[in-house]
Order: sequence, then structure tokens, then C-alpha cells
Amino acid sequence: MSGNESDSSSKDETCIFCLIAHEQDKETEIIKKNKELVCFRDINPAAPHHYLVIPTQHIHSCYSLHRGHVNFVKQMAEMGKAILQDQGFTNKKDISLGFHQPPFTSVDHLHLHVLAPASQISKYMQYKFIPGGERFVTAKCLRKRLKHSPPPVDHP
Ligand SMILES: [Zn+2]
Ligand SMILES: [Zn+2]
Repeated sequence: MSGNESDSSSKDETCIFCLIAHEQDKETEIIKKNKELVCFRDINPAAPHHYLVIPTQHIHSCYSLHRGHVNFVKQMAEMGKAILQDQGFTNKKDISLGFHQPPFTSVDHLHLHVLAPASQISKYMQYKFIPGGERFVTAKCLRKRLKHSPPPVDHP
């Protein structure tokens, strides 16, 4: 039906995270959500607390973001911190919040990893979450990078 066309750009039926975001994946429990974001547990936890915050809209990766997303990234990080608080983890110095960068992404739908305690990330998985490398960028660094990126090119 042509009436659905406006929806199809924001949701990819073959993307598992889109299904989760729209609560169509029965296996995944959403532990926090608002209009734009949902949060759930990483299926393959690398630390005692390991959550993912994802936009409900299908955004491919942090390379799809531009200067206009600085606040959005901040909101994602804030939801991550709120989740940790909800789960009783309060040591804000021992957390890791960040994104994988292509080609090191497991699912091509933007997701923020929320890990705590950062000091207890499994040593077998540590290499995936080293900030400052080409694989993993912290939310803070990403915001700084976006702030200095050129404005988005709009195709009318
Ligand atoms: Zn998606
Ligand atoms: Zn990832």
C-alpha cells in the first residue's frame, strides 16, 4: 500500500534493532524507553552491566550523524546513565559509554554501548571497547567530533 511509504524510511524490516525498537521482537525486554530511544540488555554482555541504547528510527551508524545530532548523542548517553542509576550502579567514574565504528559494528543500526563497571569489562572482550581507537568512540568524543564536522548536506 502506498500509504505506508513515509514509514519505510525510518524502519528497516530486516533490521533486528528496528524490530526491537518497535517491540516486535518478543525475546527482548525493553527496560527503558521514550519517544526517540529504547534501551535493552546486550545479548552478549561484556561487563556486569551492559546495555544498549538505540534510536527507534533506523540510523545506520555514527558515520550517519552530523553536527545536528550533537544533542541527540547526549540524550543517548543520558539515557545510558539513567539506566545505570535505575539498576543501582552509581559510580559514574567507572562507566564506559560509546559506539562502534564501521566496519566494527555488529548490527548496522546505531547503538550506544553502556558498560559498568568499566574496570570489570571481560578481558576477552576488552579489545572491543578501547576508547580512542578506530573501533570504539566514546559518546563524549563523538560529540566533540560532530561539533567540528561540516554541516549536513541536504538533498531536497
Ligand atoms: Zn534498524
Ligand atoms: Zn556495538
